[in-house]
Amino acid sequence: MAGLLRDSDRVFTNLYGRHDWRLSEARRRGAWNATADIIACGPDWITQQVKASGLRGRGGAGFSTGTKWSMMPRQARPGRPHYLVVNADESEPGTCTVREVLRHDPHLLIEGCLIAARAIQAHDAIVYIRGEYVREREVLEAAIAEARAARLIGRDNLNGWDLELKVHHSAGAYICGDETALLESLEGKKGQPRLKPPYPAAAGLYGCPTTVNNAEGVAVLGAILRRGAGWFSSFGRPNNSGVKLMSVSGHVAQPCVVEEAMSIPLRQLIEEHGGGVRGGWSNLKAVMPGGVSMAMLPPHEAEGALMDFDDLKARRSGLGTAGAIVIDKSADLVAVVARIARFFRHESCGQCTPCREGTGWMWRVIERMAAGDAEAAEIDQLLDVAAQMEGHTICTFADAAAAPIQGLFRWFRPEVEARIARYRRRRPHVPVTGLPTAA
Ligand code: SF4
Repeated sequence: MAGLLRDSDRVFTNLYGRHDWRLSEARRRGAWNATADIIACGPDWITQQVKASGLRGRGGAGFSTGTKWSMMPRQARPGRPHYLVVNADESEPGTCTVREVLRHDPHLLIEGCLIAARAIQAHDAIVYIRGEYVREREVLEAAIAEARAARLIGRDNLNGWDLELKVHHSAGAYICGDETALLESLEGKKGQPRLKPPYPAAAGLYGCPTTVNNAEGVAVLGAILRRGAGWFSSFGRPNNSGVKLMSVSGHVAQPCVVEEAMSIPLRQLIEEHGGGVRGGWSNLKAVMPGGVSMAMLPPHEAEGALMDFDDLKARRSGLGTAGAIVIDKSADLVAVVARIARFFRHESCGQCTPCREGTGWMWRVIERMAAGDAEAAEIDQLLDVAAQMEGHTICTFADAAAAPIQGLFRWFRPEVEARIARYRRRRPHVPVTGLPTAA
């Protein structure tokens, strides 16, 4: 058996769509089993169990789910309903884990919505789904209709907690994956992050108490409460427990999405699930372990890295979305980072000057560097701009945009300097052509 997780411990038993996603089959696989009993245990018990399980947000920030729920008011006041918003706006490059849940196991997500809504005393929930996920939205909406027809959700349902569940299709902006930009977007405004505080638990959707949870984290709730907090926390390391959907893409033999135990060694994930680096481990150049927002690791760091929050943070990278992107020695790392910088420049919402100007500035310099038209001295300028963006903006997008550039120079600076010197020796000057003009 490849990997650490036994088949009997998998939550997502239809991850690859080998079975039918519809209600009867989902029930046969365990969804909606004893949900009414879970709901009957009440919000305090549900929250306490989820805290004990160690479940942390699966969208990147890794905040404790149970603790987040505890921040909601204990009772909804008249005129101030509680809202559950489920973040399925999966837009991180190299990441397509939530997509598999939406299209192959939607009933786990719907059941999780009911449980989370009970925990925070919400009767309204909205799944905010990525703009490009059209087929996935169709499946999810059909599954919601099935659940409603079977009286599993809706008013006076069999599970004992009224829940109106709606799906909202995003327009496709990356920044709407930020929880407060997502709320703005739901309210029909431009998708721009809000200043915090106030936090959504105090003033979220329409100014009412709101919890925003990632779709994967919601979809595992039924399994946690049926099998027990101890079962979930038995996987991974302390403070990094549970099972997690991970993806492996890039220069591997077999790109995949897989459910694994937290803290699985990165090398094991790549070799046993991703089929190994193209040309073997010795052909590895770098790995971005958590999508493009997380700094890349060189082979000697990737070798001992564990896929969890704390280990990757200690290596000055991060688990992010657990979407590992493998880069082999055939790739030009400067060109890779230039492509990423262009993405972030395009996706900045433009509210904060360091982010709006910094992402464009970094992209233009690194793009010139990729084309062989930069000076070695510009590396320090790039790092200086990246440092000035970090922590000086409304949301963490600017930090995410800085990370790939910082990772590149942290580990590969001598190589980039040699590359620049090589180009400088070649005369004449290499013009930059065909690039879109910066805004
Ligand atoms: Fe917008 Fe960037 Fe500021 Fe975030 S950091 S609010 S994306 S300008």
